[in-house]
Amino acid sequence: MDSSEKWFALGPAERAVQEEAASLTAAVADISAEADAMSEIHPGMREALRASGLAGLMVPAAYGGRAETVDPLTVCLVREVLMKGSSHLDSMFALQGIGSYAITVGGTDAQRAQWLPRVASLETLAGLALTEEHAGSDLKNVSTTVTEKNGELVVHGEKAFISNAGAADFFVTLVKEDLADGPGLSLVLVPADAPGVSTRPSPELIAPHVLGDVTFDGVVVPPEARLGAPGKAMSLVLSTLAVFRVSVAGAAVGLATGALEEAARHARTREQFGRPLLKHGPVAQLLADSWNDVEMARLLTYQAASFARQDARAALNRSSMAKVAATEAASRVVDRSVQVMGRWGLIANSPIERYYRQARPMRVYEGASEVLKLGIATTLCAELDQAPPAR
Ligand SMILES: Cc1cc2nc3c(=O)[nH]c(=O)nc-3n(C[C@H](O)[C@H](O)[C@H](O)COP(=O)(O)OP(=O)(O)OC[C@H]3O[C@@H](n4cnc5c(N)ncnc54)[C@H](O)[C@@H]3O)c2cc1C
Repeated sequence: MDSSEKWFALGPAERAVQEEAASLTAAVADISAEADAMSEIHPGMREALRASGLAGLMVPAAYGGRAETVDPLTVCLVREVLMKGSSHLDSMFALQGIGSYAITVGGTDAQRAQWLPRVASLETLAGLALTEEHAGSDLKNVSTTVTEKNGELVVHGEKAFISNAGAADFFVTLVKEDLADGPGLSLVLVPADAPGVSTRPSPELIAPHVLGDVTFDGVVVPPEARLGAPGKAMSLVLSTLAVFRVSVAGAAVGLATGALEEAARHARTREQFGRPLLKHGPVAQLLADSWNDVEMARLLTYQAASFARQDARAALNRSSMAKVAATEAASRVVDRSVQVMGRWGLIANSPIERYYRQARPMRVYEGASEVLKLGIATTLCAELDQAPPAR
């Protein structure tokens, strides 16, 4: 498809990384459907991602990564390509950054040196454990605790729906803590093999995902396992979201592009009433509306990621806008694409049916659309307050 990428002035470095990601998805094309049906790590997919070296984009060069800092635009571009090929591959790539970024920004040199080179080389899989049974969008409501006992930290509680649980080697874990000035939220880095950590699969999703629940049963870790200062967890969580939320938008754009290409190919070749579906006005409209959706989503996504490259925290609202716009657009596009393809759009485990299922969770995780819209509307009104009076 002729695409806005042409006009967005991506430089040679960005083009090169897009090509690397495309070579990887081509190399794993034969195992993509099988991997996307799995809720455990696919060993062949892991080996292909490791061999590609792309996970090095998730860690700073000082700790084995490929660039000085983790770059939101590059991550976005890679996820766009990977998600089009395989949600399993996209998720494995994304989690290396999402699960480790709090170490990058909030860890000590010792923590970074211990974990980040192995994240970059994919020797270690990362996990970010925030969600609990009673704390989803409302993370301040977590009940997993950390307490100090005999100079050590004791983590106790249950996390739910954690990506990579069962495969991850560590969990950056959000915990509640009693502090001198009242309860606060802290982050603790818990190795998955620490005594008292156990995992079990979460319920299977409509689009399978490596997902599990994690129990921390009085897990004892040294005080050095803290990430950042006690009570300051949300600052590190926000830093992570500031870099990676927009990458969900990138993945959604890739998924929507893949779905639209499936539908367009079908509309050109399938004939009804003596002419290709494409020549039936309502079908052409479905395709045109979808292409508009894809390009609008891509432009907002690249713009937000470019802003985030300059100052990720300052660009967080733009990233939320891109995440909402692109994931909602992807849902519309896959729905229209299924319609264009008629019964062929409904065949289980066909590429279009996989896209259809995979699009749905994207509007829920890393900030449900409705929750993000609250923040977007608040920012809009705050910016209007600061703007000069209207003419
Ligand atoms: C595939 C997948 C992978 C995941 N991976 C991880 C992971 O690695 N680590 C992790 O910690 N968690 C993970 N999660 C959990 C995910 O972060 C939560 O599902 C998400 O935060 C939403 O929480 P919830 O599902 O409890 O929905 P709830 O918070 O119960 O919200 C349900 C719905 O209510 C609405 N809503 C809620 N609050 C508001 C509000 N204030 N204003 C308006 N509307 C509102 C929204 O429409 C929302 O969709 C994952 C989830 C999925 C599906």
